[in-house]
Amino acid sequence: MKELEERIKTDGIVLDDDVLKVGGFLNHQIDPKLMKAMAVEWHELYKDSRVDKILTIEASGIAMATMAAYEFGVPLLFAKKNKTANISDDVYAAEVKSFTHGVTYNVQVEKKFLHKDENVLIIDDFLARGEALRGLIDICGQAGAQVVGCGIAVEKAFQPGGDMLRKNGVRIESLARIKSMNSQNGIEFC
Ligand code: 5GP
Repeated sequence: MKELEERIKTDGIVLDDDVLKVGGFLNHQIDPKLMKAMAVEWHELYKDSRVDKILTIEASGIAMATMAAYEFGVPLLFAKKNKTANISDDVYAAEVKSFTHGVTYNVQVEKKFLHKDENVLIIDDFLARGEALRGLIDICGQAGAQVVGCGIAVEKAFQPGGDMLRKNGVRIESLARIKSMNSQNGIEFC
């Protein structure tokens, strides 16, 4: 998606050659027009699939996934990274190692919000090693829900997550795919 690639080029900051900071428009300060354009794009890509629910993981996936859910006319469900007092014990859970924080979260979704035979589209901001998607797919499997596919804003194609999931038959649609990046030479898209 040209608009997202342009924005990454102008406002993205490459950190340590494997982390891209997009806090100016995507996951700290948020550009709603760009989120809306991304949602329209995912809707176009998945318009032939039945989608009953959008699933993401807190926190930075929520804004774009909300826009996508609005576009599809379905609810947005987000997996919580930590157990809080207002979440029941009746949950589907999966361990997810965070790429950016290095810690392992026990990611949870309340059973009453995810049902057998629902068709789920998973949305997230980044795809790196595929841990977050693997955890969300696992949670859908526990519920007996089908994963229609995944919509990703930025896939770092030089990291293994995308290839690994595609090999396992998961449909991944990434709006920007980064071939390589470093703080000296900038960002090259696939
Ligand atoms: P994965 O689970 O695929 O290894 O990593 C994806 C998750 O880690 C995303 O939910 C995202 O929040 C975070 N992440 C991975 N790489 C980056 C990155 O380069 N920049 C930012 N801002 N977040 C990232």
